[in-house]
Amino acid sequence: MKNIVRLIYLSSATRDMSLSDMKDILTYARKNNQSLGICGMLCYDNRYFVQALEGEREAVNELFFHISDDARHSDVIITSYEYIDKPTFTEWNMGYAGSTPIFTELLARLSQTEFEPTKLPPKQIYALLRHLSAHQQKV
Ligand code: FAD
Repeated sequence: MKNIVRLIYLSSATRDMSLSDMKDILTYARKNNQSLGICGMLCYDNRYFVQALEGEREAVNELFFHISDDARHSDVIITSYEYIDKPTFTEWNMGYAGSTPIFTELLARLSQTEFEPTKLPPKQIYALLRHLSAHQQKV
């Protein structure tokens, strides 16, 4: 039986996040996710976070409940949750993409001038994360 899931959520940052704020999150996440066997991709722009978490179901569920309690964001909404044959973001315990020209170009293809993930269907959010994972920022 398959027990690997991909959970994608979006949320609103409770304040503007600097690169140093993102570094704090990512440094912790990368270490912890490695020990949990979880991989994924985080993106931040226009005060929105979007994150994909992939791994064993119980580990992903537990981590997500922990993350959703974090005071650095609010209005956490799961946009998709599905069983998968194998993870997509295997190269990264947590990849990262923020505001870059490529991000802007991808948004334009989705008819967005600024990042509004609440207005994107789940499949487009996943596709966006996949594209962004190939153009990560080194944070
Ligand atoms: P503690 O260090 O005890 O902190 C408790 C609370 O203090 C946190 O929940 C947070 O509200 C606040 N806090 C902690 N550090 C800071 C800081 N530097 N600045 C401001 N407030 C702070 N963790 C992972 O392990 N894997 C992930 O993939 C992951 N993704 C995340 C994505 C987002 C968008 C956010 C906001 C956080 C993410 N985290 C992730 C971090 C996670 O939410 C917890 O902060 C982390 O797991 C530490 O948990 P703790 O209970 O030991 O926190």
